[in-house]
Amino acid sequence: MHPRVDAIVREAREALAAARTGADLEQVRVRYLGRQGELTRLLRSLGSLPAAERPLVGAAANEAKRELEAAVDARRADTTAEERRRERAGARLDLTLPGRRPAAGSLHPLTRVHDEIVSIFAGLGFSIAEGPEIESDWFNFEALNIPPEHPARDMQDTFYLTESLLLRTHTSPVQIHYMKAERPPIRIIVPGRVYRRDADITHSPMFHQVEGLAVDRNVTMADLKGTLELFAREMFGPRSKIRFRPSFFPFTEPSAEVDVLCFLCGGDGCRVCKQSGWLEILGSGMVHPQVLRNVGYDPEEMTGWAFGMGIERVAMLKYGIDDIRLFFENDVRFLRQFA
Ligand SMILES: [Zn+2]
Repeated sequence: MHPRVDAIVREAREALAAARTGADLEQVRVRYLGRQGELTRLLRSLGSLPAAERPLVGAAANEAKRELEAAVDARRADTTAEERRRERAGARLDLTLPGRRPAAGSLHPLTRVHDEIVSIFAGLGFSIAEGPEIESDWFNFEALNIPPEHPARDMQDTFYLTESLLLRTHTSPVQIHYMKAERPPIRIIVPGRVYRRDADITHSPMFHQVEGLAVDRNVTMADLKGTLELFAREMFGPRSKIRFRPSFFPFTEPSAEVDVLCFLCGGDGCRVCKQSGWLEILGSGMVHPQVLRNVGYDPEEMTGWAFGMGIERVAMLKYGIDDIRLFFENDVRFLRQFA
């Protein structure tokens, strides 16, 4: 081989051996075999050589070109395999790295309070009952002894869908469905969404209620009071007290509003209880005899009590929240505080 060709080939082979990646290899190829590459230039300059040398150098350079092309191809297979190996090694799972914590959410405050209320009554042997959110006038009002002229039926309060269909304004129609389908003894707890045309900082057009109903022979107001006392101690702490205030609801007789001793000030009086020492948490009473008759029960034989409370109201008292709309805005800065 010609010494000049020899020098180029040696240099090119060294560069090939040093190439680590496909890009390195391409650089080597361009430098020696490309259009401006050293071998190409040598072949192009044959005309300037003495005539005697031309065939020798030409043959040597052509052979060297073929040789180097083959070497580049061979090396290309190597570097590709090598690059793949390095990629795989880089992607290998490093078990010593600290784990990435998934962003954990938390239960919504209303879900927390709902679950707490329901589990207290489930522990007392109540079963959970649910019903439709779209009700007929009869189930939502008539069967619950709410006569047509009662203010609760006013268009101001109720979302009517048609003349006789509406979005239920309370969970009480579930009492009617349940009593019609089952026979006493009945002990149910009824959580659910209800709707009223009302919106301000303490009222939302959609909110949640929990209703309780117990019907059997010889059920008395003393049973109601005992059950609610137990509930208050479970929900608001062992020192909790309740008091009954006479009230009126069309579907209960007698009826009572139930207050719980303010758990923020312990009864001394504070801003939340408006200095009264008591917080109103629910309405209750003995199921009205007419309601029992409406579902085919004999009020001389069966008696019962019922109560209902707003989950939002209990949650607002429990967590000191002063605007009901915060529950529904889904602002994570608010929700995160209950994590
Ligand atoms: Zn207070």
